[in-house]
Amino acid sequence: MPDEKEIEAIDPPRIDRDKCTRCMKCVDACVFEALKRVSTLKTVDDIFEEVMKDDLFYKSSGGGFTVSGGEPLMHPDMTLTLLKRAKKEGLHTVLDTCGHANWKTTKPILEYVDLVMLDIKCLDKAKHKKWVGVSNRLILENAEKLARSNVRIRLRLPIIHSVNFWDLQYPKDIVKFARSLGKNIVGIDLLPFHSFAAKKYGNIGRKGYFDNFPNIYKEELEDYKTIISRGGPWQTTIGGLIGVEQK
Ligand code: SF4
Repeated sequence: MPDEKEIEAIDPPRIDRDKCTRCMKCVDACVFEALKRVSTLKTVDDIFEEVMKDDLFYKSSGGGFTVSGGEPLMHPDMTLTLLKRAKKEGLHTVLDTCGHANWKTTKPILEYVDLVMLDIKCLDKAKHKKWVGVSNRLILENAEKLARSNVRIRLRLPIIHSVNFWDLQYPKDIVKFARSLGKNIVGIDLLPFHSFAAKKYGNIGRKGYFDNFPNIYKEELEDYKTIISRGGPWQTTIGGLIGVEQK
């Protein structure tokens, strides 16, 4: 049996995720269950068999079918197939996206979408590049194109220390931006940062980008909410639509 020092000196095996084909043989082989499967492959029929079990609940609650992620627009064909099927089943449909997507593949999907939940992480170009890793140009262009389409939109705003908190100019800029998009903006959701997902980064071998960032509490965003809700006809929430009547 190795002692503690010897154990520390052992370089543990690591997964090269660029080469991993997700065959899951390592999961099945590990008797200590060090690795676990967190998702399963399903057919569209499998998914809708599950989804339609709650049909009555959707009808009574005004709920429906949301394609979320990851990023659904990275898989436009599958997203289109799922949303088409949801519409065929008579469900209300939502597309939850970061908006960093090719418009040519996004546009045909919108025919089957009742509501788009669009992440706006940061309006400032330099800050967006710094914190998100890409320019927000494509996202803002797509926001304009979405707004001109016949689809309702909720803007989803993560609020994070050092990024866009505490700065009351930010909600004012959001109001200006939302007004420029016009009547299809039906809601704006402030999403206070929390670290609930931190563990997931470790599970997939990644370092959490916002590991040491403090949580933000609902009460801290009341001023943001006041500015945004007074700025236009949209519904404003802190935390999103859970428990809130949808307009
Ligand atoms: S799932 Fe496991 S066994 Fe399969 S390729 Fe990836 S690391 Fe190798």
